Amino acid sequence: MDQTADRPPSNLFYQSRARRPLLDRAEGVYLWDVDGNRYLDGSSGAMVSNIGHSNPRVLAAMRDQMDKATFGYRLHFENAPAETLARRVAGLMPDGLDRVFFVSGGSEAVESGLKFARQWAVATGQESRWKVISRYPSYHGSTLGALAVTGMALMTAPFSPMLREMPRIPAPTCYLDRDPLSMDERGLRYAEMLRQEILRQGPETVLGFIMEPVGGASTGALVAPDSYYARIREICDEFGILLIYDEVMSGAGRTGKFLAAEHWGIRPDIVVVSKGFAAGYAPLGAMIAGRALVEPVLDHGGFIHGYTYAGNPLACAAGLAVLDEILERDLMGNAARIGDHLKAELTGLMARYPFIGDVRGKGLLLAFELVSDRETMAPLPVGDNAYIRLVEHAYERGLIIYSRRTRGGREGDHFLVCPPMIATEDHVDEIMDKLTASLD
Ligand code: PMP
Repeated sequence: MDQTADRPPSNLFYQSRARRPLLDRAEGVYLWDVDGNRYLDGSSGAMVSNIGHSNPRVLAAMRDQMDKATFGYRLHFENAPAETLARRVAGLMPDGLDRVFFVSGGSEAVESGLKFARQWAVATGQESRWKVISRYPSYHGSTLGALAVTGMALMTAPFSPMLREMPRIPAPTCYLDRDPLSMDERGLRYAEMLRQEILRQGPETVLGFIMEPVGGASTGALVAPDSYYARIREICDEFGILLIYDEVMSGAGRTGKFLAAEHWGIRPDIVVVSKGFAAGYAPLGAMIAGRALVEPVLDHGGFIHGYTYAGNPLACAAGLAVLDEILERDLMGNAARIGDHLKAELTGLMARYPFIGDVRGKGLLLAFELVSDRETMAPLPVGDNAYIRLVEHAYERGLIIYSRRTRGGREGDHFLVCPPMIATEDHVDEIMDKLTASLD
């Protein structure tokens, strides 16, 4: 499908020289290129377009707001969409998470959480605390602060002299372990690694622990055993360490609940969301904390941080309309229902393809992993580039999926299958037909 051969040279650059078809239009779960080829958005972009494309209600809300005002600098004006969205978001959070700081994307949200946590420590007389422990693999964003807690050498290595890399513990890749322990026992063993790391670092120097409750690009929809979540919360409490949930990908309903944290009844100290929050209609994200954390920072000279475009009225109007769609159409319920169905279908592929080693995830944050041996979970050889080839095969058949080759310690090819939360059983059938043809 090289439709780019006859296109004029481009002044654009993104991550590589690869040129993709020119997008013409998008509606629902489909995108069309300028040659009329249709693609099923099987990964919602990068798990962004959660309510589908060209949603009439969101577009109308944005048009209405455009007719009033698109921008007002936040140091000069508050705006009603931001006020209302903050109130509605606070109402959806676990108890006490009632203060919302808007940003324009996931990296900014993570960056804000890290800087806010540090300022809270300073404001409360805990100056010695500055280390934020994270996990590997993990992905928390592209800015230098977010990279400092990202556990993906591919992303961090080129910048290492510029980074103050933070301590990391292994992500709970229990499915790779071959031992007689139960899953819950394995979960506790991974959680204990946090305790050990805190002791190694010196608890008085540790500020926070950041984790994706359901993994995204780094681990491929990794879900830990239930025991892990509660134990991590206990360990953070034991040492007075802030628990930061990065729900940039897992939040805004994709796992079947507004925050993935709700599946385990966890109340993080800080939560960050983006991606599905404005679902591709506007650059928007948020860092959310409780007033008990925010007040001391504001008392202590204010939060020394901000972004010019943060919380602009147009982005917030889009976010509000997205939220209305998610709640009124019960798209979280649909994500849970269709997600279970899609996961069962993906699991069914394991009988046919011995090289599928694992299927995992929650709601419509789902992934499968390819291996050379299901018993040992040994990965495919590096040179196979399966993570690239399968995506290309699917692309040629009009299906978009998202892949990476990272996992705990070792490498492995995993694929995120995450259609928009409006997907139906017919869409699942279409995904499975195209995926099967691609795997063949
Ligand atoms: N955190 C997580 C968990 C993510 O998945 C991403 C994006 N893949 C980010 C942070 C960074 O978000 P953005 O690309 O919007 O800056």
